[in-house]
Formats: sequence, C-alpha cells, structure tokens
Amino acid sequence: MFTLHGTGVGFGIAIGPARLIRRPGQEVPEYGIPPEQVEDEVRRLHDGVRSAIECLSVYYEQIWRESTEEVHAILDAHLLMMKDPMLTRESASIIRERQINAEYALQIHSEDLEAIFRNMDDPYMRGKADDVAQVIGRIQDELLGQHAGQSSLEGIVEGEIIVTHDLMPADTIDFKKYRVGAFLTNLGGPISHTAILARSMQIPAIVGLHEGIRYLKTGDMLVIDGKRGVVLVDPDEAALDVYRKRAEKIERAHQALDAIVDKPATTLDGHSVALTANIEFAEEIVESIARNAEGIGLYRTESLFMNRKEFPDEEEQFGIYSTLLGKTGRPVTIRTLDLGADKQVDGGRQSMSPATNPALGRRAIRLCLHDLTLFKPQLRALYRASVHGELRIMIPMISNLEELDQLFVLLGEIRDELEAGGLPFRPDIPIGGMIEVPAAAVAADLFARRLDFLSIGTNDLIQYTLAIDRIDDEVNYLYDPLHPSILRLIKSVIDAGNAAGIPVSMCGEMAGDAAYTRILLAMGLRELSMDPAVIPQVKQKIRLTDIGKIEPMVGELLSAGDSGRYRELIERIEI
Ligand code: PEP
Ligand code: MG
Repeated sequence: MFTLHGTGVGFGIAIGPARLIRRPGQEVPEYGIPPEQVEDEVRRLHDGVRSAIECLSVYYEQIWRESTEEVHAILDAHLLMMKDPMLTRESASIIRERQINAEYALQIHSEDLEAIFRNMDDPYMRGKADDVAQVIGRIQDELLGQHAGQSSLEGIVEGEIIVTHDLMPADTIDFKKYRVGAFLTNLGGPISHTAILARSMQIPAIVGLHEGIRYLKTGDMLVIDGKRGVVLVDPDEAALDVYRKRAEKIERAHQALDAIVDKPATTLDGHSVALTANIEFAEEIVESIARNAEGIGLYRTESLFMNRKEFPDEEEQFGIYSTLLGKTGRPVTIRTLDLGADKQVDGGRQSMSPATNPALGRRAIRLCLHDLTLFKPQLRALYRASVHGELRIMIPMISNLEELDQLFVLLGEIRDELEAGGLPFRPDIPIGGMIEVPAAAVAADLFARRLDFLSIGTNDLIQYTLAIDRIDDEVNYLYDPLHPSILRLIKSVIDAGNAAGIPVSMCGEMAGDAAYTRILLAMGLRELSMDPAVIPQVKQKIRLTDIGKIEPMVGELLSAGDSGRYRELIERIEI
C-alpha cells in the first residue's frame, strides 16, 4: 500500500479499480516485476504485439476504401515494423535485464531506435523516428487496454477510476454516461473547467498529481479521497475499512444538511441571501430545484457544443432553452458561449484557431463577436425562448466597452429580425456581464451603467489578476481567493453595482465554498450562485452569520498592510 497526493476537486470518496487511459505523448507507467514473474511479463509483451497487429489490420481494412495510397503505404510500413521480430526480441531482453514492465521496456527500446533514426543524414530516414514512436505507442496502448480506433472510454466498466495525464472538459462530460467512479490526472487545477464539471457531476477527482500516475497500472485497487486529494494504492483491509466508514459519514452529513433545504437563507440579523445554482447540463435543473435554488445563476452552455461534429443550430438551442425555462419556473441566467482557452471543442472552426496563449486569446465574447455564425443562432434562440420563462442573458469575459457597443447593435438587429419574421420574444430581457477580467473589475462602474446586472466570475478573475493559469498545476499553490487584490476587486465591483442600482452576484467557485461565505456577505454580496450540491453547506453558514458583527471589520481588512493582522481579521470574520 502507498499513497499519492494531489489536489482534491470532486466530492466524496470512491473505491475501485484503476483504468489507465493514455493520450498521445503521455508517459507510460513504470514499475518493477518480481524475478519469478519476468517470463509472464515477456508473454504479456508478445500478446500485446499480437493484438496490436490484429487491431491495426482490422482498422486498416475498415479504412481501406476511403483512404489514399499514401495512407496505405504508411499503414503497410507500420504493420511491417510491428511484425519485425527484432522489436519484440530487444524489448523482451530489456524486460529480463531490468525486470521492468513491458510498456516501459518498449519505451526504452523506442527511445533508442528513435535516436538512431534522428541522427541519420537522410531527411527521409530521420522521419522514420516518428513512425517508430507511433508503432510502439500502439503496442503500449494495447498493453494498457486501449485499442486502435477506439474511443478512450469504450469498454470502461462502471465504477472504474480513470487515471490519465490530463483531461479536457469534453472528455469529462462523457464520464456520467460511462458511470466512471472517479478520475485522477497529473495536470490540472481546482478551478479548471474539468474540475468544475467533476464537481457538478459529483464525481470524486484528484488533479495535479505531478507525474504521480506513472506508479499506477490498470487494475490497481484505489481509494480516492476527493476532498483531501489523497489516493491510496492497493489499500489493506484496515485502510479500506476506515475509508468505507468515512464515505458513510460523508453520506450521513449530506443527509443531515438536507434538513435545511426548506429553511430560508437568512442571516441571524435578518438579511436574506439568494442562493442560485450553477449548471452545466439542462438535466441538472432537477437537482437545483431539489436543493431549493432560487433560480439558475449560471447555465454554462458550452457542453451543448462539445463532443459533436456539427454545432447545435438555432432550432435545437431554442428547444433546449425553452424547455429549461419552462421546467425551472424561476429566473434562469443563461451565459452565452464561453468557448476557447480551457473550454475547447472538437471540430473547432477556423475562428477558433489555437492561440499562442489561449487564456489571453480569442475566447468567449471575443470569439462570439468575431464569428457571428456561432453567436447569432444562440442569441436568436435565447430571445425566442424568452417567452417561456424568466430569462436573463449573461455575457462572459467582457473586457472593454466597445464589446458592449457591438453586442447591443447585434441584439437590436436580432430583435428587428424576429419582429419582422413574426416570431414572439421578450424585448426587455435583462442583459448582464461577467466581471472576470481585471480590466472590467477596475472599471466596473462604467460597465454597470450599461448593463442590467453583474456577476463576478472569480475563477477567471483570480487567474488573470494573480497571473496563474487556472489549469496549470505548477502554479496552483498561488490560487488564493483571499488575496488582498481579489477582495479589493470584489468589493469595488459590489460598490459599483450598488451605485448604479443593479444587482451583483458571484458565480465563481469562491461563491460555493463555505469557507468564504462570511467575508462575501460582509463585503455586501447578497446573491451567490454555486453547484447545487453545495447549496446546503453555504446556507448553513449564512444562517449562522451575523453580518452586523463582521461588516465593520471589512474596512480595516482591505487596507491592512501587515499580513499577520490580515490573517487575524480574516479568521475573526470567517470563524
Ligand atoms: C468564472 O470564471 O468564475 C466562471 C464562473 O466562469 P468559468 O469557470 O466557466 O470560466
Ligand atoms: Mg470564467
């Protein structure tokens, strides 16, 4: 038994077997083989090579007709290389000499061969190094249980724990379908979109294991503590017992919190707080209503565009938004597309070409205003759906006022078109903006004058203000919602909203962490939007808070120059 540590991002505890999923370029696991099992490992290597040849041959047959002569030549060469007895013989000797697993032995052999080819003078021969890497990669995939041409999740057994180098949000949204038990990744941070999705699907997860997964192999029994970020590998009975009991305790604590579902989110001194839900999928509305959310504070529409070849057209979106509004029967804030950066999709368009630094590139409103074929169908669908409920439209990542100028012209055009076409819509849908770029936070008063509401997106606001990429595990330790700059920005956005007489809410992950509830209330927030699963915890904290007692400390906190005093004030407010 041993443990690995990372950043816990999902809820609860999962116990189950590991399933390694390898992505191109990802490291293979490396582990020792006891001397008496070395010959079995050599047999495993032979089996892996055999099934890689079979799979590639089948795949070859399937694509034969529609592929070109060039592709045939490449696949012929790959099959020849795979069948070369030298490849298996050399890798088998490495297993025997070093007593290591087959995947890693292949890796060593691959690197030696690649180096030989790369040092050749002839450019054609130098190119062969890539073929070697691909052929050996296919055999390694076979050994790890992934077959050529197969989706990486096919064949997953319910309850298995996905172990992989990195995951995109688009990978994660299929996890529910495959009833994945939990997932572990080397990369990633707690506020990456992948992590947010894991929380919304209530899948325990640990990210940022820093190459930790190289010590794991498919079939290893794992215990995942999604709160503490601890992975137990091959746990003994005593440890399993402790974790089973802990899982039961968590379940009981959740049930106990259910008791406050129908109680109001009102502080001890009588301030009401609106708790709304963040949802990723329209189906989550059921849970949001069950948790008594006052509405939807953030519907991220990106998942509608993921894992499909064609993006949804106006009609399809109209159907989805109308049903959602009708079913909710409470205010629903739908955010327009926030694609790009950490929210990539398959079959991206030219307008989504990869930027040098995607987080600072053409994402969200920038992408939408650039590509109206993407934006207009969504806006038209939203306007048309508005007659089915109480809709608010929210624009992500606004950073300058010209974007608002362009947006309002476009909305005017859409209203004119709908009217001319005799299609019903509500002309006065509140239009709000997410304050998640420091530029918008600093100039929030200017944005507040032009918008009907503001919502603070702390995930991005923290990323951009503290200059820490939200998906980079190496700088995760700097993620700090209580950094003085963040609290100051939040306070000034709340003040700007109040001065303009428009509501200000928060929909970043900070809003759903009960550790920050009091400081947010003390600074004046009265609407918090979060994953529906955490609404009871935040509500409980609100019900135990006396704003009158903590509010007077905010002034000193925001100007405290001494870090000791700063921490002391935070503690006095939060505890
Ligand atoms: C945010 O940035 O805080 C936010 C809510 O948006 P997302 O996490 O989808 O970028
Ligand atoms: Mg954001």
